[in-house]
Amino acid sequence: MTQVPVFDGHNDFLLRLLRDPARRDEIWLTGEGKGQLDLPRMRAGGFAGGFFAVYIPSPKDAAGLDYDALMDNPPYQVPLPAPAPLDAALPVATAMIGHLKWMERTGTLSICTTTAQIRAAMAAGKIAAILHMEGAEAISEDLDTLHVWHGLGLRSLGPVWSRPTAFGHGVPFAFPSSPDTGPGLTEAGRRLVAECNALKIMLDLSHLNEKGFDDVARLSDAPLVATHSNAHAVTPSARNLTDRQLKMIAESKGMVGLNYATSFLRPDGRKDPAFGFDVMLRHMDHLLSILGEDHLGLGSDFDGATIPAPLGDVAGLPRLIEAFRAHGYGEALIEKLAWKNWLALLDRTWA
Ligand code: ZN
Repeated sequence: MTQVPVFDGHNDFLLRLLRDPARRDEIWLTGEGKGQLDLPRMRAGGFAGGFFAVYIPSPKDAAGLDYDALMDNPPYQVPLPAPAPLDAALPVATAMIGHLKWMERTGTLSICTTTAQIRAAMAAGKIAAILHMEGAEAISEDLDTLHVWHGLGLRSLGPVWSRPTAFGHGVPFAFPSSPDTGPGLTEAGRRLVAECNALKIMLDLSHLNEKGFDDVARLSDAPLVATHSNAHAVTPSARNLTDRQLKMIAESKGMVGLNYATSFLRPDGRKDPAFGFDVMLRHMDHLLSILGEDHLGLGSDFDGATIPAPLGDVAGLPRLIEAFRAHGYGEALIEKLAWKNWLALLDRTWA
């Protein structure tokens, strides 16, 4: 069976280089079997490309606030960290983009701003990367820095990671919980949506609360996208999407990427990774029932989450594809879910 390439909606690999920059050769090129991503395991698993997130860690993260531990025993409602100020975020974002530029300089990865570039990178055996920001902490309210990052290749942006920004409010990590947890976009957030539309920067709604989601839906002229979120009807986490939101995404010809984070997959909200592919398939079936075959893909959250044990890491992707086959998904549908739908969505968004 030939390997199905996977184009993925979200990973946090750059955070690993940020934390250990002196060893990036070993972490990326050699691979050490740590975390869930590196070049050799991506090649083994058929990982062809995806969204690489620039994410500003909270000071509390550095002090050891362990979200995994706080989310271990549902029900839970984890407090959000304080906003990260622009002057603290700018050097971190610069460093993370620098790491992605270094990955490109090694000749193993290509930072893509068009789907033609993505297809060319895939054909050449290079990882096709989209520069994404998860949270707009590194963007000034006057939006001048948005243009700076766009000039460096930024083509996807989430106005918030869950912590609040000048642009909006995110969902706290809560289970069980509705995603309707607070106010939506600020005035600056509404300007950000218009400017992203003008620059053809894809807007990612995965960490927005429901009012923020509705604000973007009302204001944006682009398809609605949640790069790494699951079905609230299966797992009632605040981070997952209600059927109403899924219908709006389908109507906009948008996209959802399945998140492999155990806390957003397990119907009981627990983090324990000891469960089978059947749980991921329950989400896929529900998402397919509302989104249809053209608006669903994968959004792993590799290197940002605890993931199911049978998957293990990126090298386990062929086992997920095999589980799709065993579940009765045909080859044409599998190719759409694995990569073709993401490229079609980007064609609709960036054109
Ligand atoms: Zn995320």
